[in-house]
Amino acid sequence: MKTLLSLYPPFLLLMVLYVQFAAAIVNIEIYSFRELLIMACWIPVFTIPGLFIRKRWYKVFFVLLFFLGGLANLIHLLILKGPLSASSIFILLNTNVGEASDFLALKWSYLWLLVIPYMYLFYVALKKKSVNTSVNKYLVIILVILMSVFFGEAILHDRFVRKALPQTSKALISFIQEIQTYKNLKLRELKKVEATSNYSGEQIIVLILGESCNRSHMSIYGYHQETNPNLKLRNDMVVYKDVVSPYSNTIGSVLSMMTETNRENRLNYDKAISLIDVFHSVGYRTYWLSNQLPIGIWDNAIFNLARSSDRIVFTNNYANTSFESTNLSPYDEELLQPLSRALISEAGSKFIVIHLMGSHAAYSKRYPSGFNKFITHSNSKKKLINEYDNSMLYNDFVVDSIFEILKSHSQTPNSRISAIYIADHGENVYDENETVGHDYAGSLPQTNVAVPMFVWNSDTTTLKALKANVDLPFMSDDLFHAIIDMSAIISPHFIPEKSIFNKNYDSSRKRILEDGIDYDKKNAD
Ligand SMILES: [Zn+2]
Repeated sequence: MKTLLSLYPPFLLLMVLYVQFAAAIVNIEIYSFRELLIMACWIPVFTIPGLFIRKRWYKVFFVLLFFLGGLANLIHLLILKGPLSASSIFILLNTNVGEASDFLALKWSYLWLLVIPYMYLFYVALKKKSVNTSVNKYLVIILVILMSVFFGEAILHDRFVRKALPQTSKALISFIQEIQTYKNLKLRELKKVEATSNYSGEQIIVLILGESCNRSHMSIYGYHQETNPNLKLRNDMVVYKDVVSPYSNTIGSVLSMMTETNRENRLNYDKAISLIDVFHSVGYRTYWLSNQLPIGIWDNAIFNLARSSDRIVFTNNYANTSFESTNLSPYDEELLQPLSRALISEAGSKFIVIHLMGSHAAYSKRYPSGFNKFITHSNSKKKLINEYDNSMLYNDFVVDSIFEILKSHSQTPNSRISAIYIADHGENVYDENETVGHDYAGSLPQTNVAVPMFVWNSDTTTLKALKANVDLPFMSDDLFHAIIDMSAIISPHFIPEKSIFNKNYDSSRKRILEDGIDYDKKNAD
């Protein structure tokens, strides 16, 4: 027993356990049992040498180490309601103070009192004298074996950082790895573009980027399950029937929609003019509100574009890697409040990009339990389809809520709000080739590239005009031109024939996808 007490000094143990206890109080979903197991393995890494060193400075050293690691995690928990992660460090370092005070509601809350017991436990852990006793060698040996098994298993499977490090160290190490790949990207400069506004009043343009959205699972596109109970009731929205994305991955499709790059000119994304450049040059305030991960090999390039906006908000800060985020990201409704704040925060015209997590796998993690509507299934395949459909049902709620917020904000005279929802790419959910996902080998399934697109407008005359081309084919890499057109911006970079909203729209463009195949030829037969 005494040996155990020197291996796990009670107050140090309590101090370490306390952080997970606080996590459970703040947000039960982020409480991690594994973190407790990891800590149980790390404490003896310091206390076993302590049995031999028996010096005061050594004890102060490791108690302080556990204290600081826990404190960083605890404070982060209280402010952001999530564990410390590489994403949140990344965002904090890329956010200026003005933005932080605007969007981080750093309000007093009784939860802050949770810091006091932690401080007390630290004080006692430091004060308590070590139990000076002869050590039970067998107990130490058993513990060393157990720890070796735990650490060894993680090392063998090449997941030591991911599975065997305490939260704070994991966040720091993942962050350092991440910042290396980020530094390799050329930082995007905001470009001054020749452009003026042809609209006399104030305008708000909102681009909602959906994620992994297969339109054949949407009832507004004819799906047999009712996945759009809200959007189907809207009479202030126009649905475009035949839009495809040339890419079935997020980076290619988002960057080609946001810049003048298209399948024909193949301009380098870094050198091409972006919509943010255009709106900024006209004098709009630009916003990027995202529930996608800011970091990760792919996400970095999008973050690089996002950060050229005047204001950026990333609500998805729990994860250290893209992989982790598929299980940890918060629900898309987290973006509704930042949107409302962006709308009322400053006067003047605005361009707001909202990047949703949408229906990204794992589907069951994308919606709260209230949207668990499609539940009858006979096998695992049907179960997954149901989960996907539930995520679509939730997406219907989120997009409809965004339109409602815009509607309630659009009462000001001499102002117009326009919004476009478009998915980055589709998703194959056993629709074709008996597979799931949006990775492809060989040729692209239609469901990976056929995307939903609909337009909402506060002005009925504008809305009427937008209806003219709803049935025409369009490929999303020309969205750059469509949005400039919709915003009534005059610029030499705008090509009317490329805008589906324009009366001169050229619908004869060949839609060649990233696999080099003509979408319309392939799907004609
Ligand atoms: Zn995507």
